[in-house]
Parts: sequence; structure tokens; C-alpha cells
Amino acid sequence: MRIGIDLGGSKIEIIALDDSGATLARRRVATPAGDYDGTVRAILGLVDGLEAELGERGTVGIATPGAVSTRTGLMKNSNSTVLNGRPLDRDIAVALARPVRMENDANCFALSEAVDGAAAGAAVAFGVILGTGVGGGLVVERRVITGRNRIAGEWGHNPLPWPRDDERPGAACYCGKAGCVETFLSGSGFARSYRAIAGVEASAEEIARTAGQGEAAARACLELYCDRLARSLAIVVDIVDPDVVVLGGGLSNIEALYDDLPARVARYAFSDALDTRIVRAVHGDSSGVRGAAWLWPQRQA
Ligand SMILES: [Zn+2]
Repeated sequence: MRIGIDLGGSKIEIIALDDSGATLARRRVATPAGDYDGTVRAILGLVDGLEAELGERGTVGIATPGAVSTRTGLMKNSNSTVLNGRPLDRDIAVALARPVRMENDANCFALSEAVDGAAAGAAVAFGVILGTGVGGGLVVERRVITGRNRIAGEWGHNPLPWPRDDERPGAACYCGKAGCVETFLSGSGFARSYRAIAGVEASAEEIARTAGQGEAAARACLELYCDRLARSLAIVVDIVDPDVVVLGGGLSNIEALYDDLPARVARYAFSDALDTRIVRAVHGDSSGVRGAAWLWPQRQA
């Protein structure tokens, strides 16, 4: 049995999967906000409860925002700031009395989709999260490529490729630079570009909906978003050339994106032809917790 835990800013979710990926049980509790020890205790309580209910002990994988610093072994880059600077994986391993595996949520998303989601069967899958932030994860033969510095796939903080004059220098990003892919492709980036075109505020959902009804500014905004996404993905294709690109996060639900995207990526990528599949995630919000469970790989049949 594999146990996956998705540690989010507002909720902690736990799932138990059998060898086929079927869900044996799942639960969620509110994250003890701002309380590090309480967070570790909540995870312990969830694992104990699930194992008592199922009468079985499992491997444990954890999806977190942020990553473990290779320099200090402590958490970094987490928007749940109470985790930063703490040895989260070791503290959980001690609490659970077993080794645990931990990866950032974008890597878990990509792994989940590569194991039994939209990229199942693909040798090389690139998973993209388009939401509050923009993240990415690279999975090769069902294994997450974390990279030497644990930043493999962190594509959201590259500059937007082939910027137009009015896209330079771009909005300031929390990472300290400006014009990052994330500042254009996150939900707030999408809303910002609509504000620039239409002069009024609208949420990402509203823009997508009114674009579908033919509203000119919303359509222009969506087209621009699609083009920026295509430029950003073309760089990934040029470097990694994945078999499948899986889109997840709130903005991946915009159906219209998928019509135009492959042709636009093909226009920018350095290739005469492009048959990369670009698909929507099938596990939706469950990808993080499922991918965490799959951090302990399947035994080879
Ligand atoms: Zn940035």
C-alpha cells in the first residue's frame, strides 16, 4: 500500500493507493496554519488513522510547496512560510518511524499524470501547473527528474521567450526578477493582461467564459495567453522534447486553449514538424496526492 500526502497551505490531504492505483481511502483536514509542530502532528494523525482503518502499513510520500535545499537540507521556497528553514522530511520520518520521500507539488503532479494519468505510457512527460503560480515537473520512465539543484522543470521563472516590445521588461516577480513566465501565465497574469486590453477587471474564469461568447477583448486576451504559453512550451520542447505535455491547475480547464496550442508551439519550436501531445490532466486536484504516493515506485512485474 502506498500512502500519499499533499501538504497544502489550507488543507492536508491523504490517500492510500493499492498496487493498481485504486483508492483505498482518502481524507483531508485543515492545515494548522502557522503551526509547524501542529502540521507534523496532523500528518502523523492522518497516517495513523488511515493505517488503523485499513489494517496495513504503507510507504509514505509527501507533496509540498517548496523544496528541500541541497545546501542545508531545510525547506525553502515554500509559500507556507512556516515550513521554510525546517527539516520537514526528517521530522516527519521521525514522527512516522520510517523513511519518507518528499517532492514539490509540481513534480508530484507530473508523476501522477505520467504513472496513470494523461501521460500514461509516455517515456518522457512534462507536467505544467497553470494556477496561482506556474510550475513544472519532468518525469522520465515514471521517475521524477529532480536535478542537481532540485530545480529541474522549474520553468515558471525563466523569462518569457521572444518577448514583444510591450512585454518587456514585464511585471516584477516575487523571485526578484521581472518578466518571468509565471508573471504572464499565472491566473493573476492572465487577469493583468485582460486589464491591459479591456481596461476593466475580470477573473480568469470570467475572461474564459466571455471569450467563449465571442467578447472581443476576452478573445484577444485568450489568444495572447495561448501564444505566450506556446512560446514558453516551445523552449521546453527544444530542450527536453517530451512525448507529452500535461497541463494542470485552474487555467488548464480553459477548453479553448487546446485547439490552438499545438500549432502555435510548432510555430516556435525548432523543428519542421511537431507531434507532441498537449493534454489536460485527468486526475485534477488529486494529482498532487496521487503523485506523492507514487514517489515509491511500483515493483516491476
Ligand atoms: Zn520569477
